[in-house]
Amino acid sequence: MAVRGILQSLTKAYGEPDANRVTGAAVFDPKLRQSILDDFERAGIGWIWATDADGQLIYISDDAIEKLELPMAELIGQPFIALFETDQDNPDERSDRPLNFQLKAHNKVRDLTVRFALGKSRAALRQVWWSISGYPKFDDRGQFQGYRGSANDISVEYERKLVDSKLAEYDSLTGLHNRHYMNRRLESIIGAFKAAKRSCGLMMLDLDKFKRVNDTMGHPAGDALLVQVAERLRNIVGNRGEIGRLGGDEFQIILPDLDDRGKLGELADKIIQILSQPYPIDEKRAIIGTSVGIAIAPYDGVEREEITRSSDLALYAAKNGGRGQFRFYSDDLKDEEEERELLLEDLRLALHADELELHYQPVVQAKDNTVVCLEALMRWDHPDRGSVSPARFIPVAEETDLINDLGQWALNRACADAAEWPKSVRVAVNVSAVQFTNPEFADVVAEALESSGLEPDRLELELTESIFVGDSETTEDMFATLKKLGVRLALDDFGTGYSSLSYLRSAPFDKIKVDRSFVESCTQQDKNSAKIIAAIIGLSNALGMETTVEGVEAFDQLQVVRSKGAELIQGWLYSKALPQEAILEKVSSGEFKIKPDGPELYRPERRSVFRRIGVIHDDHRYEAVMRDLSKTGSLIEGLLGVPVGTHLVLDLGAGQLVVGTVSRTRDVELAVEFETPLVSDGAGGLCTRHRVSPYALAVAGMPLTSLAPGNYPHEQMTNGARTTPKFMQVTVSGSAG
Ligand code: C2E
Ligand code: MG
Ligand code: MG
Repeated sequence: MAVRGILQSLTKAYGEPDANRVTGAAVFDPKLRQSILDDFERAGIGWIWATDADGQLIYISDDAIEKLELPMAELIGQPFIALFETDQDNPDERSDRPLNFQLKAHNKVRDLTVRFALGKSRAALRQVWWSISGYPKFDDRGQFQGYRGSANDISVEYERKLVDSKLAEYDSLTGLHNRHYMNRRLESIIGAFKAAKRSCGLMMLDLDKFKRVNDTMGHPAGDALLVQVAERLRNIVGNRGEIGRLGGDEFQIILPDLDDRGKLGELADKIIQILSQPYPIDEKRAIIGTSVGIAIAPYDGVEREEITRSSDLALYAAKNGGRGQFRFYSDDLKDEEEERELLLEDLRLALHADELELHYQPVVQAKDNTVVCLEALMRWDHPDRGSVSPARFIPVAEETDLINDLGQWALNRACADAAEWPKSVRVAVNVSAVQFTNPEFADVVAEALESSGLEPDRLELELTESIFVGDSETTEDMFATLKKLGVRLALDDFGTGYSSLSYLRSAPFDKIKVDRSFVESCTQQDKNSAKIIAAIIGLSNALGMETTVEGVEAFDQLQVVRSKGAELIQGWLYSKALPQEAILEKVSSGEFKIKPDGPELYRPERRSVFRRIGVIHDDHRYEAVMRDLSKTGSLIEGLLGVPVGTHLVLDLGAGQLVVGTVSRTRDVELAVEFETPLVSDGAGGLCTRHRVSPYALAVAGMPLTSLAPGNYPHEQMTNGARTTPKFMQVTVSGSAG
């Protein structure tokens, strides 16, 4: 079809000129109109196009054909909608109805951004973006005749806009998504998933001690570290979720359809481990850690704000729990902050009122049972709280300056006490990483030695791997100063933290303490633990250091660790920590030796608990008290006449239901074995992998909300059906512990 011929029909489309029309003084000239159109096309301001009733392109400006560098046959006569497409990748355009929908509906289109589609298949061609407008033409009888329209090339502006919008969605430092994008994304996922009854995991990460890297190594080093963190996160998460950097050292991961707390916990553990490996930055090495908070929609929140808040609270709890931990959201976290404040206040008072004590746990030489060292462990017996574990109050104190005061007190007391012991017995004092980084720490140590008169080599400072977080230079300086004082240094809890062997070479440790967790599992199927113990002892010997194996509770463990070469042992099998009077009594009798005494076999810890739970059988709900809980089973009290082999459902609260079988009974006591093992809740407790779905509850007529802390609304699910209860309910009294 001749282009000019088409143009004639196009001219017609603009309406037949009225020969008598007068514009100003000049008489309208149809030829003038033609030439204006020609000039318009040639000027490159825009082009003209037209389709026929079948939607095929019947005209397009020559200039456009030239620009596209395509033979005319590939354009003219082709369906218009095959030539162009709207940009579905661009969030701004996405909501627009696609071009083909508009054209099929014979809608007017205005300034629609389209991509020239043929160009995509030709790799050499750049992306061509047009803005097109067009209106449908109908004949007198209302029959559709085709489109008439204009177009112009906006590629340059549009590409720039795309880059800008990418910038608006991405964090320019790490290339991860930014807060703005993550918020929008979470909003849309949570919204869509609510309708589809799907769940979504949300992780919040905060780097531990990142500020120290920034402060001591400079901001460019901090930036370099963040880039590496992002890279590691991408590798771990893969296509399971979307990762964003919300700002500073805060990251977020959206994990659609992941509600298995076992899997989420494993993922969080992996993230913590991998992000804790050292980062090479300009010839130096930086070490940081990370804490992870996890919340799951719809269980912990059904709206974006709610689920975000839950994951924040979980993160906060994880950080407070001692860092390098993950934590699932649970309802009681809301009160955690307040509780910590109160604890801190009480602790401050206790320190000033001299209510804290140091007890000493013997470290024994395995070959002859001789006590060679005593580790000072803080003890706090609070009038109302009872005895509070240092594992609870030390991390709280570490959040403030109080740890320095506590630490100083402990050093002074321990040195003074040790001065009364035989010279063959050393004292070990735990030093928090916060204390160690305090520039005055060496003076505090010197003063404690001086005022007690204790020989420096009888003082052993127990440090944990967390002191390596941050810059290595200040760490090395402190090491050098302490070594000059003549004190001994021990690396505590080895294998739990940043687990890098590299710094062992340069750091002047005299001793490594193998963490209790390896001993705990060394007699179980997990043969790796025994191997790790052997490896650490071997390594430590090779580096000329001593090794203490911590946490030996039974003879079978003792046998394993001795066979792996352990010479120094600390654990309940020998002794728990004892007050100074008890120590003095023991040493007064001459030789200080302790024989191992305890169980033959190590029994994996059953957590002793006291918790009211629900027990569901048939359509009855009974009340029971849980006495202890392990991953695979529980001891409960409160039901009589339950035969062995009965299937029960335990309601542990907050939507946690556990299916189990009664394996043993004695009076009102039932041992229940779980069908599916529980998983770690990240805080030393246990939880179920899955919970009752709020969607299921909603189906049963409840409003859709996140799970309440109480028990599962059994009646709702059974529609109130009632039969006679099979078992007898017994009321159990008792107290915690
Ligand atoms: P740690 O330094 O690793 O101390 C060893 C912990 O393991 C002690 O817990 C000890 O009672 C416990 N333990 C020893 N043998 C066994 C065993 O056979 N089985 C089991 N299950 N546990 C055993 P404790 O006294 O609760 O202290 C916990 C942590 O609190 C200590 O871990 C240490 O990190 C910190 N801590 C205690 N006192 C101080 C202190 O004065 N200053 C600082 N900065 N931290 C302290
Ligand atoms: Mg210790
Ligand atoms: Mg330890």
